[in-house]
Parts: sequence; C-alpha cells; structure tokens
Amino acid sequence: MSKATLTIDLQAIANNWRALDRLTKAETGAVVKADSYGLGAERVANALAQAGARQFFVALAEEGAALRQALGDRPVINVFSGHMAGDAEAIRDAALTPMINSTEQLLRQLETLPGHPFGVQLDSGMNRLGMEPAEWAALRDIAQSQPLTLIMSHLACSDAPDHEMNAAQLRSFHDMTQGIDVARSLSATGGILLGSDYHFDVTRPGIGLYGGRPFDDAQPVVTLDVPVIQTRTVTPGETVGYGNSWTADTMVTLATVAAGYADGLKRALGNAVGEACFQHDGKTLPIVGRVSMDLITVDISALSDVPQTLQLIGPGQGVDDLADWAGTIGYEILTSLGARYDRHYIA
Ligand SMILES: *Cc1c(COP(=O)(O)O)cnc(C)c1O
Repeated sequence: MSKATLTIDLQAIANNWRALDRLTKAETGAVVKADSYGLGAERVANALAQAGARQFFVALAEEGAALRQALGDRPVINVFSGHMAGDAEAIRDAALTPMINSTEQLLRQLETLPGHPFGVQLDSGMNRLGMEPAEWAALRDIAQSQPLTLIMSHLACSDAPDHEMNAAQLRSFHDMTQGIDVARSLSATGGILLGSDYHFDVTRPGIGLYGGRPFDDAQPVVTLDVPVIQTRTVTPGETVGYGNSWTADTMVTLATVAAGYADGLKRALGNAVGEACFQHDGKTLPIVGRVSMDLITVDISALSDVPQTLQLIGPGQGVDDLADWAGTIGYEILTSLGARYDRHYIA
C-alpha cells in the first residue's frame, strides 16, 4: 500500500446535516459546490438526499448537470453563478434553477428559457454576487411575474457573530424582500448559528456538513492516513529536507511519509511555522523540514515501533487545525485534498 488513504464518513455528513436541520424551522439545503468541498459530490449528495435534503446548491451549471445525473429527477438543484452565457442548454436539460445575479442574466434567462423556474440572488452588502438594491427595485415586478422560486443573499461576516455587518445585511435583505411572497434564503453555516432572525425559509450549509468551523458541534468527517516509506536516525547537527531548513539538536528518529503539497498538504505546514504534526496512538509527531511535492518528514522519536501509517487528519486533529498551522481556512484545506489519495467512503 503506497498511497495515502482519505476516509470520508458519509454518516457523519448526514448527521451534521440533521444537526443543522434541528437548529432551524427552515428547510435545510445542502451546498455541494466544488465536488462537495473536495469530498466527492456524487457520494456526498446521495448521502444527504437519503438524510432528507431536497435542495442542493452548486457554483456552476456544469456541476449542476453532473449532480442531476447522480441524484435523479426529484431534488432541486440551484446554481449560484446564475445563468451565464452558454448555460441555457445545461440549465434546461438538467432542470437546474439558476440564481439570477444581474439584469443581464435575467434578460438571458427570459429570452432563452421562458417559463423555466429561477431564483434571484441579491447583494445585501458583500459586493460579490447578486443584484444591487436599485437594480432589484427596477426588476422585482418583472421577476415576480415569472416562476421565481427563491430569493437569496449571502452574509460576508457570519463566522463573526458580533460583527455589525450581520445585522446590516439582515436589514438590507428585509428591505429588498418586503412584501414579496417567495421563499427566502440568507444563511450558510455561520448564519444558521446566528439565530432564528437569520433563518428565513431555506438554509444553505456547506462547511458545517463537512465538519468545519464555525459549526463546533460537527462530527469529524475526514481522516487522512499517510504510509511511512522509510525511517532513519539523525544525530545533532544533521539537517533535513530542501534548503536545510531544519537541524536536529538531539538524536531523533525520522519517518518519511508518502504525501506532499501535490496532495494538497500545504507547504506552509513545513517547519517554517513549526506546530504542524501527525498523530499516532495519541502521540503528537511534529513535521520537520519542508513539505516536498510527494513527501513529508516527521519526527517519530516518541514512538517505540514504526507504524505503517501516520495520521494527519482524524479525531485528534481536524481540518481546522491544519488550516491554522498553514495560515488558511478549513474550506481551503478540504478543497485542496488531492486526486492521488485512495478514497474510502464509510456509508
Ligand atoms: C459556499 C456558499 C454557501 C455555503 O457556505 P458555508 O460557509 O460553507 O456553509 C452558502 N451560500 C453561498 C452563496 C455560498 O457561496
């Protein structure tokens, strides 16, 4: 066995969906964009559909078309990027629901797919996607005369509950949707945790399903076990890896394991930062030297035997720990997990 094993617990994902569902009276959707945050859209979405999810969200029409193949006719598949040029056929054939982001997209939708359901994304202050308040004011009567299924917006600071931006965006969303009798959606994982004012009719959790912050009660979803290729002992003064970036100051036993930055294990996990470690048998085993493309060196002096694999992600340390060590966020760790792993699903 030479490849690292990425184990994805579909039951944990389903349990996290149920736990987020219990936090609101709203319908709980599921965000499965970017191949379900790198974990495999087909397997993950099917597990979520089995748990009861009926509304899915993807970033792109192409992702939606693939998801339709995986899920069959029933579930609603919403597309955040809306209706981009050239998407009409995919939207029609896969019965996708584009979240219309602009006047241009609305015209394209009405021209190419008259009568086809769509949603609208409003910009309540994030300035990323969606119609601005004035634009929406001019179009809302037209939109409402069409098969409009959902009005949504997205919070910029929902992972910071005390941030004043949350209340400002909530006000703006209320202002823009007042008097409209269409289902509304404002909250991703962070928004769900802000409380019932933010829940509206449909929620859109992503990261919380996959075990990441800010949903602290999430069950861990991912385990990553990396095989040991070789071990050696180094004496004080010897250096390890590219650039001699680590020097032993005592006698240590090192293991070289079979994964690196080509597998999404950030170079910033190397000892430039210094805290990153693997685990085995409850012992913490520091990464030493730089992360190479396919290899990482680990100080296993704390172990009495050499195990076949060392664990980088698991119950003892999660994607957010890796993110902290690498100076990024759990979302980026998950979506970077490489194609080279042996992927194993717990159903
Ligand atoms: C990615 C995304 C979500 C899910 O966000 P999480 O923080 O992962 O829960 C919801 N809505 C929109 C518009 C998104 O882009």
